[in-house]
Amino acid sequence: MTINSPLTDIKGVGPELAKKFAVLGIQNVAQLIDYYPRRYDDYSVLTPIVDMTPGVVTTQAKITSVTGHYVRRGMHITEAVATDATGSVKLVWFNQPYRAGAIKNDHEYYISGELALKAGRFSIASPSLELVSSFPVNTARIVPVYRETKGFKSAQIRKALTQVLPLIRSLPETLPDWVLQRFSLMSYAESIEMIHFPKSPNHLERARKRLGFEEVFGLTMAALLNKHELLVEKAVKIPFNEGLAKEFVSHLPFSLTDDQRKVIWQIYLDMQKAQPMNRLVEGDVGSGKTVVAAMAAVMAIRQGFQVALMAPTELLARQHAETLVELLRPLGYAEEVVLLVGGLSAPQKKVAQEKIRNGEAQLLVGTHALIQDKVDMHSLGLVIVDEQHRFGVEQRKALQAKAGHALHVLNMTATPIPRSLALTLYGELDISVIASKPAGRKPIKTKIASPNSRAQLYEKIESELVAGRQMFVVCPLVSDSDNLPAKSAEQMFEELSKGVFKHRRIGLLHGKMKADAKDAVMQQFANHELDILVATTVIEVGVNVPNATVMLVENAERFGLAQIHQLRGRVGRSDHQGYCYLMMGDSSSPSKRLRALETSSDGFRLAELDLELRGPGAIYGSMQHGQLDLRIAKLSDTKLIADARAAAADFIERGSDLLQYEQLHDRVQKLRAVTNLN
Ligand code: ADP
Ligand code: MG
Repeated sequence: MTINSPLTDIKGVGPELAKKFAVLGIQNVAQLIDYYPRRYDDYSVLTPIVDMTPGVVTTQAKITSVTGHYVRRGMHITEAVATDATGSVKLVWFNQPYRAGAIKNDHEYYISGELALKAGRFSIASPSLELVSSFPVNTARIVPVYRETKGFKSAQIRKALTQVLPLIRSLPETLPDWVLQRFSLMSYAESIEMIHFPKSPNHLERARKRLGFEEVFGLTMAALLNKHELLVEKAVKIPFNEGLAKEFVSHLPFSLTDDQRKVIWQIYLDMQKAQPMNRLVEGDVGSGKTVVAAMAAVMAIRQGFQVALMAPTELLARQHAETLVELLRPLGYAEEVVLLVGGLSAPQKKVAQEKIRNGEAQLLVGTHALIQDKVDMHSLGLVIVDEQHRFGVEQRKALQAKAGHALHVLNMTATPIPRSLALTLYGELDISVIASKPAGRKPIKTKIASPNSRAQLYEKIESELVAGRQMFVVCPLVSDSDNLPAKSAEQMFEELSKGVFKHRRIGLLHGKMKADAKDAVMQQFANHELDILVATTVIEVGVNVPNATVMLVENAERFGLAQIHQLRGRVGRSDHQGYCYLMMGDSSSPSKRLRALETSSDGFRLAELDLELRGPGAIYGSMQHGQLDLRIAKLSDTKLIADARAAAADFIERGSDLLQYEQLHDRVQKLRAVTNLN
């Protein structure tokens, strides 16, 4: 057997059982080994029967009698007595008629379960029972508990794992020896055994440390390699022109915030270098990133370079184009802006493509359409990406191929990425933060609501709609799905269309719709041809509908804080007061986590909270969930992060050959694609 063997090669796993494993994503031995427990039950302390107190207990005793019988129609009871030198205790199982035959009288067993007083006598109901051995699996140890499915229990996973223990114990090391020694890390083989079958809390702790270390080591290695690749590339130098910057600012109807000023300056410094800029600008929704982008763009345009601004949706691209035309008009660059999106007519596209090819257009605004083969760039120098995570490495490479040289890349995102996560994920990437907002913004009033107050809430909302405002409703699901008890957008759309809001114009928007259908609905909402837009989180990114003032989030408990914060940013975009209602799935009391949204409007603080409580997946939503592969490492563990980063840097410094570490190599390659931002 090897780690690539199918599960059915394991003794005791037949095709039927293999199917149940497959539901959990486990199809071969490697995946089984990689299926970490979600928690542990500590059954490691053996208590003599006489000393047992109500609650969870584990003991070693001889079974002295077993009987099985039906008590009522269909109801079967197995009763056994366990006896040690100090006393005896009753064990009971319900509806497991096979039990009586399986238990061996007069044999020593480990017994774990909950001791309780029933009908005047102490007994343990449905205990785990296991013959005494040197390697107990379900009792008498720290027992791993896995994510289970219906009719498929942790015990079956444990059993399969014990069959591959010899293989686990001979797993080759995946980290360099000097790393293990310097940071006193457990070997890979031992840490895998200990994560499943820990010998002691201390062993478990050390296994977690080792595996967490490896996760961060891989991530930072990927980030560092990306950075190194960039160091040897050459981009065009775009010198700073002070007069131009001053002129641009003089035409703005407002003065820049200090943070905007600081960030623009950082960008100008970057663009003057031959080394390609690789900067991420993080700024909350409404913090004014577009002006920053425009200021970077004019500098390149003045030098005769083209700038490509890519937006995640067509509608957003259109909005950007309109805004940029206005911002650039006073400088005489309005004609330089060209829009290229899928929705243009064929002749319009031809015209746009021709202008891009001959250099007549210098600010190209669009979606993925900009990267298509048909588009020939004349003199591309700078790429600005709004909401970076919608674009991958391939797209960057495609654009660089068009340009014939490396490009300055400016990424803008409203996702507040906590410093610890950013460092780990993006390593040496340069990050600028626009933390302050333009003066005079009203914070969005946020309230948690329970389902029984829905009617009153709808009345409040109706008064906003009567006043001519609009509402977003966001649901966690697209359509009804039987295994998730949550509102779907389709169901909500039906409910509202037939219920209290039947006199309102309601639209539906979700990720399963075609791109042009989505854009059409969004455009209708932006034109106020709809009062209510029922959607999934597809609306999270950027669209500006200043007249929308109400955001209703259904099953709010299912969303990350940072995500809800992004969502509510959709409604605070004008002089009108914005409202965000967080509807709970049921009437149980909302978590502290959600409460933080009512009191805080600081995206970074909320993201930090999210990170602490739910891990990076919460911040990135579905985007990179899983791919980051941080299953054990906590980004709040600063010592671990620092150690792993130092080790990765040293690894590269020493010129170590990654190819010699096959598993590490594979993981790093995969992660490079995920973490590369430019
Ligand atoms: P985001 O960071 O979400 O992309 P935008 O760039 O769309 O934000 O800016 C939101 C609004 O704030 C725009 O209407 C913009 O004109 C305005 N704005 C930007 N900077 C300032 C500022 N310094 N003072 C006042 N308003 C500003
Ligand atoms: Mg924006």
